[in-house]
Amino acid sequence: MSGTPCAGCGAMLATGWFICHECTLDLEFQLRRVFDVYGTVLATLQRRDVGTKAVGSNGGKASSVEPVNISVLDHVMTLQAVLTGWGAQIPTVRPTSREPHTIAAWMLRPETMALIRRQTWAYDLALELSDALHPLALASDHSQERVDLGPCPSGCGGHLKAVADARWGQCTECRERFDTAEQKQWMISEAWHVTAPLPQIVRALHSLQVFVAPKDAENWASRRKLIACIADNGAKTYQLKQVYTVHQAMTSKRAATKERAAARAALKKETA
Ligand SMILES: [Zn+2]
Ligand SMILES: [Zn+2]
Repeated sequence: MSGTPCAGCGAMLATGWFICHECTLDLEFQLRRVFDVYGTVLATLQRRDVGTKAVGSNGGKASSVEPVNISVLDHVMTLQAVLTGWGAQIPTVRPTSREPHTIAAWMLRPETMALIRRQTWAYDLALELSDALHPLALASDHSQERVDLGPCPSGCGGHLKAVADARWGQCTECRERFDTAEQKQWMISEAWHVTAPLPQIVRALHSLQVFVAPKDAENWASRRKLIACIADNGAKTYQLKQVYTVHQAMTSKRAATKERAAARAALKKETA
C-alpha cells in the first residue's frame, strides 16, 4: 500500500497529502486563534500608548510604563514571519497585506487549506503558530481562559496548561506537548474515588471543562440518581465518578432527544 503518513499523528494518508483531517482541525484552530490573540494584543498596545502620552505631557518625567512593549512587538513579528514565510510557499495568489489576521483568514479559506494540506510542512505551520501565539496570549490584557491540567508527568516541576478547547497543551517548564482530551480523562479517572459536597464536585469538574449545572446536580441527588454518603453529623458527600457518569448519560440523552425532535420537524415539513 502506498501513501504518506500524517506529519502530526502518523496516520496513513493518500499519496500527496501530508496532514490528516483531525490534525487539520488543530491547524485551523491555531489560525482562528490569530484573530483573537492578535486583536487583543493590538488593543493592549493602543491602550499603553494612550497611557504614556498622558504621563509624558504631565511634566515629562520618565514613565514607568514602556511606550510600546518591545518584547510584545518581537512576538508579533515572529507571528508575522511564521505566517508570511509559510504563506509564500503556497502555490497560489497571496494577499498583499502582511497583517497576521489577513493571512490567517486567507489560509482558512477551503481552497487555500486544500493546498496547504498537500505541503510537506503543513503540520510545521500548526506547531510554529502554537509557539508564536503562546507568548502573545500571555502578554495580552485578558488572555483566553487557560486550564491547568495538573503537574507535568516528566517531573520537571512544571504544570500542564492549555487554552480552553485546544487539542494540545504544553508544560510551563519543559514545554512538552500533550493531548488535552487524554489528560482530562486521566485526571477524571484519577479522581474517581474522591467524595465531596456537591458544589465542590461541580467546581472540580468545571475546572476540567466538564460543565455540570449546579441545579442539575441537585436534581439528580433529589431523584436519587446520585447516592449520598451521609456522615454522622448529617453532612452529605457524593462521588465524583458518579456525578461524571450521570452527567455523561444525561448529555447524550439530551442530544438524542434534540435529534429526534429535529427529525420530527423535518418530517413534518416534508409532509406539509
Ligand atoms: Zn494527523
Ligand atoms: Zn514538564
